Amino acid sequence: MYDIVRPSGVKAHVGIIGGSGLYDPGIVENPVEVRVSTPFGNPSDFITVGEVRGIKVAFLPRHGRGHRYPPHTINYRANIWALKTLGVKWVISVSAVGSLREDYMPGDFVVPDQFIDMTKNRKHYTFYDGPITVHVSMADPFCSALRDIILETGRSLGYRIHDRGTYVCIEGPRFSTRAESRVWKEVFKADIIGMTLVPEVNLACEAQLCYATLAMVTDYDVWADRPVTAEEVERVMKSNVERARSILYEAIPKLAGDPDSSRCSCCRALDFAVV
Ligand SMILES: [Zn+2]
Repeated sequence: MYDIVRPSGVKAHVGIIGGSGLYDPGIVENPVEVRVSTPFGNPSDFITVGEVRGIKVAFLPRHGRGHRYPPHTINYRANIWALKTLGVKWVISVSAVGSLREDYMPGDFVVPDQFIDMTKNRKHYTFYDGPITVHVSMADPFCSALRDIILETGRSLGYRIHDRGTYVCIEGPRFSTRAESRVWKEVFKADIIGMTLVPEVNLACEAQLCYATLAMVTDYDVWADRPVTAEEVERVMKSNVERARSILYEAIPKLAGDPDSSRCSCCRALDFAVV
């Protein structure tokens, strides 16, 4: 492993990775901006560290403010490493997705439990490029304890939030063709589609972080014979972002403690993975 260089005096407990539309959590009190450099380069932006209801939180916009980094150019390793450097234990990843099923409607939330990786050209899928080799288990790629907390919070707020969903991650930045969309839906039986989950999720696992995704459905992808446009995505996203913030605001106090290894095995992900 690489040495962690801790920016002096700054620590956080919960990490939030904001996706498209969520460049500023708007709920962080007493924020300071921290520039963290990592052995893998710079994260997408400076990290906002502050408090949400007494809990230390680190917020990082995945694409950078102003959406500077499209999905295939994001330095996922630096992003995850930077949060780890700050002492983060829990990571809630927020992302905008397309829906591949009728009943996951634009405006709904999904907390996926599986993914299919259809990326093609991401540069770095691991922190371990040798001589240490690591094969982490991705059988259950998301933290079950964190998923439960997000789901319970969304439901308590009265939002439509779906437990379970297979996220197919495509390379992007273009959207799918109709033929591709039908394959994801009918052959792969995937439920939602996006461009940023991989390799963020597996790097979080290698960093032994409790990681789960709050996916916001913005559109029906192209299988529904309604071409997806960036404008449509933008419009639905804006209305979702406020509700996503409410979920974060209510969920974060429930993460006050450290992860409990009897509820999930994230913090032991490397126990049997190092070759
Ligand atoms: Zn966990």
